[in-house]
Amino acid sequence: MSRADELKRMVRDVPDFPQQGITFRDITPLLADRKTFGEVIDLMSIHWKGKGTTLVAAIEARGFIPGAAIAIRLDAGFIPIRKAGKLPWRVLSHSYQLEYGTDQLDVHQDAIQPTDKVLIVDDVLATGGTAAAAVELVRKLGGQVIGVQVLIELSQLGGRKRLPGIEVVSELVY
Ligand code: AMP
Repeated sequence: MSRADELKRMVRDVPDFPQQGITFRDITPLLADRKTFGEVIDLMSIHWKGKGTTLVAAIEARGFIPGAAIAIRLDAGFIPIRKAGKLPWRVLSHSYQLEYGTDQLDVHQDAIQPTDKVLIVDDVLATGGTAAAAVELVRKLGGQVIGVQVLIELSQLGGRKRLPGIEVVSELVY
C-alpha cells in the first residue's frame, strides 16, 4: 500500500455530513497522531521551500491547522482568511459558492503588502470556490499568489478548473 493510501485510511469519511449526499473528509484522526501530523506538514511544505513565500494565507477553520504549521516551516508569516464578520479590523470581503451553500470570506485590508508572495492553504479542495475567493482577496490587496496547497483534493468536483494559471498541490487525491 502506498503512503498516500495509508494516510487516506487515517482520514475518516463521514457520510451525509453536514448534509445528505456529502461525504465529509474528517482529518482529525490524522492530526491526532503525533508522527503523522508532522509528516503531513512536511509533505504540504516541501514543494514551496526556496520559493520566497512571505505569507501563508489559510482559510477558516480547518485551513488554519496546517496553515500555521506550514508558515513556520517556510519561515513565512501567517494571515487568517475568515468567514464573514469575524475579523475585528477593516476587511476586504468576497462572496462565493460552496459545495454546500454560499459563503463570504474576509481578510484584513492591511494584511498583505504588494511585495508579498502568498501561499494559500486549506484542508480540502472541493469545487474550488473557496480557494478561488481566497485568490481574489490576495490579488485585490496586491499580493502575488504563488500557489494553493491543500491536503485533500476531491478531483471529481473539478476545483482546479476554478484556479486557472495557479499551481495547485494536493497530497491525497480522491
Ligand atoms: P469548495 O469551495 O467547494 O472547494 O469547498 C472547500 C471548503 O469547504 C474547504 O474549506 C473545506 O474545508 C470544505 N469542504 C468542502 N467539501 C468538503 C468535504 N467533502 N469534506 C470536508 N470539508 C469540505
